[in-house]
Amino acid sequence: MKTKQSVVNQRKSLYQDAERYHEFLKGDKRVTTPRVCGVCGRPLASLVLNKNEYVTTVPHVRFHLDKIFHVNICKDIMSCYRTLKRKGEL
Ligand SMILES: [Zn+2]
Repeated sequence: MKTKQSVVNQRKSLYQDAERYHEFLKGDKRVTTPRVCGVCGRPLASLVLNKNEYVTTVPHVRFHLDKIFHVNICKDIMSCYRTLKRKGEL
């Protein structure tokens, strides 16, 4: 189980720890692999089947923690709350 406060803290520490981060808006095609939110698990990109490429379906922020490790989270914290609540984890 998570609390709203733990969600806030988790997101805040990413902003503090990341070397840099980028925002991806809905429809962004700079996505080449499936992505899920590191806080709530919501899928952030989906495969366009007839094109075989990914497109951003949920606005999100991608954090570069170091050269190889990335974390993506929903841009809108309400999205994390909603998803966790739906899964019964909040
Ligand atoms: Zn989320």
